[in-house]
Amino acid sequence: MDIWEPEGVGSSKVEPDPPRSGSALALMARRISQAALDFLYPPACLVCQARTGNGDGLCPSCWGRISFIERPLCERTGVPFERDLGVGVVSPQAAAEPPVYERARAVARYDEGPVRQLVYRLKYGDRTDLARPLGRWMARAGAELVAEADLLVPVPLHRLRLAARRFNQAAILASVVAREGGARVDPFALDRVKATPPQVGLTKAQRAANVQGAFRVPDPARIRVTGRRILLVDDVLTSGSTTNAAARALLRGGAAAVDVLVFARVVTGG
Ligand SMILES: [Zn+2]
Repeated sequence: MDIWEPEGVGSSKVEPDPPRSGSALALMARRISQAALDFLYPPACLVCQARTGNGDGLCPSCWGRISFIERPLCERTGVPFERDLGVGVVSPQAAAEPPVYERARAVARYDEGPVRQLVYRLKYGDRTDLARPLGRWMARAGAELVAEADLLVPVPLHRLRLAARRFNQAAILASVVAREGGARVDPFALDRVKATPPQVGLTKAQRAANVQGAFRVPDPARIRVTGRRILLVDDVLTSGSTTNAAARALLRGGAAAVDVLVFARVVTGG
């Protein structure tokens, strides 16, 4: 599988400093490329393009419209609670129908404010530069999970969809989160062996059936997965069917436990 990583996504951190002697040309080249980047992506609000003076930021208006998910929340699913019910409390929904994964965390609610727009642009709008700020927010929202994870694994795309889209947004987000949190990422630990039609418009049962058996840990990756605590990374969690199917495949592949970190999630019930 060919994981495409955009230039500029966290690459500044691993890039060595230019040599101190005879570096005038290199320095000039760097300045020109930085100027080109500023021209392409001037410091502007990620949503409405208003000037912010901060390339990774949102203007106050857009920031205010995002529903960030904060405590108190369900320890399992990460769904926010209206009021604090105490530490370690699990939502009735998660208690009645426990997810395959152990814990899930998300930055924001998918259905409120400009979040859906951000995800859409990252996925289809060739705005892979969005991955850096979104990934940073994810690293913060899931700090505990990232710290405890042995390995970060992005939810894979089927190779046909990957070929059509050219990149896997989950893989790009995972690499940013890994870099921020000092964790390891393995984009080849999980394979999407079934090309599933889009989940839009399906019932929960249909969604689950749709993705059943869609994922598999490839034999060469088993040794890297076995006994590990895996943090599964994706852009969005909706019904949880895809996430559960991927988590189940990792557990079958030998993982000790699977947590989930997404940028946005749909919040239903509680
Ligand atoms: Zn804005």
